[in-house]
Amino acid sequence: MKAIVIGGGIAGPVAAMALQKSGIDARVFEAYSGTADGVGGALSIAPNGRTALQAIDAGHVVERIGTPMAGMVMQSWTGKRLGEFGSPPELPPMLLVWRAELYRALYDEAVKRGIAFEHGKKLTHIDGDNVRFEDGTTATADVIIGADGIRSTTRRLIDPAAPEPRYAGLLGFGARLADLDGLDDTRDKMHMVFGKQAFFGYQVGKGEGGWFANLPHRTPMSAAQAREVGNAEWLRRLAEVFREDRVPAVELIRRTEPDELVVTGGLEDIPSVPTWHRGNVVLIGDAAHPTSPSSGQGASLAIESAVQLARCLRDLPREQAFQQYERIRRHRVERIIKMAARTNSDKAAGPVARVLRDLLMPTLMRLARPSSFAWQFDHPIDWDARVALPT
Ligand SMILES: Cc1cc2nc3c(=O)[nH]c(=O)nc-3n(C[C@H](O)[C@H](O)[C@H](O)COP(=O)(O)OP(=O)(O)OC[C@H]3O[C@@H](n4cnc5c(N)ncnc54)[C@H](O)[C@@H]3O)c2cc1C
Repeated sequence: MKAIVIGGGIAGPVAAMALQKSGIDARVFEAYSGTADGVGGALSIAPNGRTALQAIDAGHVVERIGTPMAGMVMQSWTGKRLGEFGSPPELPPMLLVWRAELYRALYDEAVKRGIAFEHGKKLTHIDGDNVRFEDGTTATADVIIGADGIRSTTRRLIDPAAPEPRYAGLLGFGARLADLDGLDDTRDKMHMVFGKQAFFGYQVGKGEGGWFANLPHRTPMSAAQAREVGNAEWLRRLAEVFREDRVPAVELIRRTEPDELVVTGGLEDIPSVPTWHRGNVVLIGDAAHPTSPSSGQGASLAIESAVQLARCLRDLPREQAFQQYERIRRHRVERIIKMAARTNSDKAAGPVARVLRDLLMPTLMRLARPSSFAWQFDHPIDWDARVALPT
């Protein structure tokens, strides 16, 4: 069996490596002319993402580039600690990775394993076993895997009525900093602050750290539209928005040079993508289940889906493999998308909802049992187990 993977982001290279381990030859076609070197902010790889990578002997890829995240400390705008949560102690900790380094590391690992990548190949059409790219070239395979992200062309080609991404009411910003002298070390913990007007996350370590902000904004903005405003202007607005919050937000923003600011535009998700496969085409990663960054799970779920699809194709005929893959994955990913959407409403809360949130949050955090988060993280994949259809 031969497979074509559309998209060389996260899900794409992982799928190609997992398919190779399943004995299926896969080639990756990426629209951009290179990997995402130097582009984007931070991502978390959750324990479930790490164990999924281990299933294809690629756990070291993120271990090498990641900073452990021992937990997440939730704070109110007053600096008051509302609670803390993290991965269960028996699982490996979350890792904080920089998006560009993750893309590069996955690409390098896949190339090392002999996977072929073709860059500058933007998918435009699928006709049976044949795919066509914008440059007029074509390729043929038995299976076509759409790993082309939240604005997936593959998704639209197999279902022209597929829903468009939904705006969460928040714009995303972030920066990676080296100048951290005099700031308190957060000891491998990410601090998450429900500020008076916006949400702020930061982690400060020895010589390296970073922050991100989610700014409520009524109208959606693409990354390109947001960048037109100008980075210096966004830094000014963010410093203004966080000025009353008793956390180091303003100080971290002040230390950020305009060219260090990453402007990602509106946070988006799709609650449910109705069609995951049609004929010989199947979707994985954000193409199938785009969750907003607030889940901290988008990359990990993309890795899980890539690995699970390869197991299904290894053990079942194509149509049954696609059906079983969807059966294994849909409930889990949609539950996480829903949870992240709830977090987004908390982050984008208006003045009245914000007061209620700040009053209720400490109690809710106290009552939350670790098991209410653990199901996301504790999700082992037994690579060797045979995938069988339900009886
Ligand atoms: C600001 C921000 C912060 C985030 N934070 C986190 C986090 O902390 N933790 C987390 O787990 N996730 C996070 N995410 C989500 C995470 O980035 C995605 O879930 C993840 O990248 C999905 O991987 P993917 O491979 O499916 O898609 P992508 O990484 O988007 O890759 C898709 C690839 O397909 C290519 N492509 C697109 N169209 C075509 C085409 N027509 N032909 C060929 N190639 C094409 C693209 O160029 C791209 O390289 C965040 C996302 C954003 C935007």
